[in-house]
Parts: sequence; C-alpha cells; structure tokens
Amino acid sequence: MFPVFCPFLAPFKGSVARSTNFWCMTIFCLCNTTHRSHSNSDSTGLLYAEAMSLPTIWVFGDQLNRGIGALATATPLTHRVLFIESAAKISSQKWHIQRAHFIVASMRKFAHELRSAGFQVDYRMVKSMGQGIKEHVREFAPSEIVATEPNSYASRLLAHDLGVRTVSSNQFLCHPSEYQGFLGARKSIKMEDFYRWQRKRLNVLMDGSEPTGDRWNFDDENRQPPPKTGHDRWPVPALYELDEVDEQVLAAVQSHCFGKLPVGQWATTREGALERLQFFIERVLPVFGEHEDAMLKSNWHLAHSLLSPYLNNGLLLPREVVEAAQSAFREGKVPLNSAEGFIRQIIGWREYIWNCYWQWMPDYAHMNALSADVDLPPMFTNPSKTSMACMKSVLSGVNERSYSHHIERLMVLGNFALIAGVNPQQLTRWMWNSYIDAAEWVMVPNVIGMSQYADGGMLATKPYASGGAYIDRMSDHCKGCVYDRKKRTGDDACPFTVLYWDFFLRHQERFVKNPRVARQVRAAQQLQDRDELQVVAVSMMKKLNKGAL
Ligand SMILES: Cc1cc2nc3c(=O)[nH]c(=O)nc-3n(C[C@H](O)[C@H](O)[C@H](O)COP(=O)(O)OP(=O)(O)OC[C@H]3O[C@@H](n4cnc5c(N)ncnc54)[C@H](O)[C@@H]3O)c2cc1C
Ligand code: SF4
Repeated sequence: MFPVFCPFLAPFKGSVARSTNFWCMTIFCLCNTTHRSHSNSDSTGLLYAEAMSLPTIWVFGDQLNRGIGALATATPLTHRVLFIESAAKISSQKWHIQRAHFIVASMRKFAHELRSAGFQVDYRMVKSMGQGIKEHVREFAPSEIVATEPNSYASRLLAHDLGVRTVSSNQFLCHPSEYQGFLGARKSIKMEDFYRWQRKRLNVLMDGSEPTGDRWNFDDENRQPPPKTGHDRWPVPALYELDEVDEQVLAAVQSHCFGKLPVGQWATTREGALERLQFFIERVLPVFGEHEDAMLKSNWHLAHSLLSPYLNNGLLLPREVVEAAQSAFREGKVPLNSAEGFIRQIIGWREYIWNCYWQWMPDYAHMNALSADVDLPPMFTNPSKTSMACMKSVLSGVNERSYSHHIERLMVLGNFALIAGVNPQQLTRWMWNSYIDAAEWVMVPNVIGMSQYADGGMLATKPYASGGAYIDRMSDHCKGCVYDRKKRTGDDACPFTVLYWDFFLRHQERFVKNPRVARQVRAAQQLQDRDELQVVAVSMMKKLNKGAL
C-alpha cells in the first residue's frame, strides 16, 4: 500500500512547472492497484462497463461529490471512474499529517462509495498522471476520458496536455465566465460590490430587490472583542472514530508528515461532512456573528463553521451550505447578523477569491511587491522557538489540528509575516503544507493578496498590518506574555508593536500615498523614539531568525 501525493509537475515545462511543484496537491489522487476492486463484479453496471468501451471520468481529489460536473449525470451504465495516484513526489515535502490523511482518506472513501453505487472504479498508482492515463487507456480502451474542469491552473494545463476533455464545473456558485459579467467595464473591483451582485443574482437573503432587513452588512455587530467570561460557551465540535481506512492511510503517509495525529476532528465522508454542516447550522450558526473576529487561547474554534475542508474537497457544495443557513434564518432559528455574516463568507469572500485566482494566475503567485526577503522564521516549524504568547498559541494550534481560524491566519500569522518582511512565497508554502483546507486557488490570493500585500494592492486596498494593541483588544493573548504590548523599546518591547511601526517607516514612501494608511505612516514618522525603535527592530529581527524572539 502506498500513499498518494500527486506530483504532476513532471509533464510541465518552463515557468509553470517550476512554480507549481507545491500546488499539485489539489489532486491527491487515489489509487492502489492492489485495491482495484471488482467486488461488485456481479452488478449489471460493471458487466456492462466491462463489455463496452465506455467513457471514463477522471475524478480529481478535490471533486469528491456525485453532484459535481461530469459525475452529476453519470451512471454505472454510462461511465467508469478513474482515480490516479502519483507517488513520486511524496517525499519531496513534509505535509501536516492531518492534511495528508484528510485528503487521501476522503478519496478512498469516496471511491468506495462510487463502487458501492455500482460504478467500476479504476484506482491507479503510478509515477505520474501521464503514466496513469496511459495505463488506464491500455487496459480499458475508454471511448474518451473526461474530467470536470480542475480547480488549479496547473491541473487544467495538465488535463489539456494529456488530451482529457473537460466539462464546465458547477463546484462554485460563480463560474469565471459569469464573473466576467460582473467585471464588465468596472475600473475598480471591490468584494462588497461582488457580494451584493451575488446576493441579487442568487436571490439569497433578498426581499424582492432589497436586502433582507434593509441592510447588506452587519460587520459593525459582528466584530466584537471576546467576552470577558464564558470562554467555553461555543459548542464543541464532535469527533468521529477513526476506522480501518483511516489507519491504513495514516500508516502509509506518516513518514512524510509532521504534526499531531488526527483524533477524528475532520470528517472524511460525505455523510460525516453533512453531519458537521447540520451541527453547525443548528448549534453554532445562531451565535456565529458577534465574535467573528475574536481570538482566545483557550478556544480554537469559537463559532467558526470548520466547514472549509469539505467545501474545498467537494464533500460539501456551497449551494447546500448557503441554503441551509438561509432556511435556518427564515425559520427564525438564526438571527440575521449571524446568517448574513456567514453567507457573506461563502457567496462573497470565497467566490471572490476563487475568481481573483483565475483572473490573475499564473504570475500572481510569484508577486513580491514589498520585496520581502526574510526567510520563514524557525518558530513556524517549531513553536517552542518563540516566547510571543500569541504566535506560540496559534502556531501550536496549527501543529495540533492543521487549522486556525481566519483572524488568527490574517491578524496573527499573516500580520506578523508582513511586518517582519517574510518572503510571501515561503509563507504560502508553509501554509500550503500545514492547513487542512489548503488549496492553491484559495491559499495564493489569501496569502499573496490579502495578508502580505505582495500584489501591491490588487486584492486588498491596504496592508493588514497592526500592532500589539489590536491583538490585545481582540484576544486574551497579551495577559501573561513576556512582552508588553504597549512598549516600543526595551527588552520586553512587544515585537508586534515594534515591527508594526518599523514596517510603516520602512515602507513610508509607498504607503503615505495610500489614503487608508497614510495616517499610520505619519504617526510613525512623528514618533519621538523612532530612531531607538528602529534599532530595537533590527535586533529583534536577529533574534527572530535565530529562533530566540
Ligand atoms: C493567510 C490566509 C490563508 C488562508 N488560507 C486558506 C486556505 O488555504 N483554504 C481556505 O479554505 N481558506 C483559507 N483562508 C480563508 C479563511 O481563513 C478560511 O477559509 C477559514 O478560516 C476556514 O475556517 P472555517 O471553515 O471555520 O471558516 P468560517 O469562519 O466558518 O467561514 C465560513 C467559510 O467562509 C469561507 N471563507 C471565509 N473567508 C474566506 C476567505 N478569505 N477566502 C476564501 N474563503 C473564505 C470558507 O469557505 C469558510 O469555510 C485563508 C485566509 C488567510 C488570511
Ligand atoms: S504582548 Fe505582543 S507578543 Fe505578546 S501576546 Fe501581545 S501582541 Fe503578542
């Protein structure tokens, strides 16, 4: 038995190939030749499939749903199904074990579901995708191989190069061709405009032509700091028991991975994902809104949905998630600020990011507008290498569960990397390897654009830089930290505070022209202790690189 990571770079030439060797993971392909199961060979479907030169549907590892694209209309009588596992690259990088397990186990279980439904499934374990296709053709002589439009740029090129026909994907609510209609002649693009366009177009939370409740946005109600007490008030996510498939996958991938073993926090089947959706809608969504931006060291989930892994690998579809949230609101079970706040994430942010990806790739992933060239600090791979309470807590959480919520990603890890000048491609790679829900289409715009301003402002109108004061207001990390979030100089000066001011001084020429942050630049320029602060910043960077900050 061999694990399954798909290095489908080999067939690529030139810049795309060079740039994508850590992106191909959108297709963790599953195949185990010893597992090529004909267990339901007595089914009519299989006999028919074997007798006829049927077309084959090649299912990628992030398209695990009977409702997606080519699979939506397929039956065991009309199609057979192919999964390809390419193992050559597994040892090229270290992956978080929960991420590797989630992707591979989900694929194996989905393939099993298809077999149980009567499909003939060809699992293929090979060195490259190209080899997988070649061997499949030799053995089955399909009339054609068809795939749903893959979700990454490199996979689309690959499918094209391999002569695979692709059909339009319905995995997202706004296809890039529809997004063109939104872009029209617009000179500037704002997420808020896109979101309202989506609300109207999809008729979500609308009363006629007006937004339900006469408001589009409840952000002012949804950005409260954490409550002072009751830090365990949010329902605790359920765990499921790992089964034999999970154990087999873990044994297979373990030697190439880091991080804590899974304990059942991430479901790996459609049934499990639907249970998580139901749990979220019934128990958590009613309180989703108010503390959406809060962070707590003692609570890793708060009211976050934890649904991104399933949305990203296909176990859940965005339409059903949005419909469930809207129905709960219409039935009076969820307040409007929570329903709107959640739906905004799904039909707004998620779909916006998806379309930014297709609009700007492939060059986008390589952008580094601020010339940030500091190597990823040791604390990212070893949280014991920092005394910063906030960073240690979030990084330890990633190690423990392959997850941290949005504000921790943006305002702790991303913010710190931004103000410390960490290379954005190194940060992308680390996040790509570490997060349960990582996928190129969502990771790259969120890191390069939203969190690192490495695109020079194409996605975000200002850099998301903030100092210790923000973290103190929105979390409970600062109390008990060895650093003092108010101090800019001295041994216990807070690295967030020091590097925040230093960032605006380093980039003052660029940002003084940006009306959204010009005030911060001018405040930095007027600091009395500016020179001393910059000396402290230099010594902090030395400590950071040594793993001693
Ligand atoms: C630096 C950085 C890296 C990120 N990397 C990823 C990634 O690899 N994969 C990923 O799915 N999300 C990523 N995000 C977006 C967001 O942080 C996660 O989607 C979210 O934390 C997932 O947890 P949740 O399901 O509990 O989200 P919730 O807070 O419950 O939000 C609901 C859903 O909204 C969607 N969503 C919210 N914000 C975004 C966003 N900015 N972009 C896309 N979808 C969004 C997600 O599907 C999420 O499941 C990243 C954000 C940042 C700042
Ligand atoms: S004092 Fe600074 S380093 Fe410590 S937890 Fe607060 S923001 Fe983080």
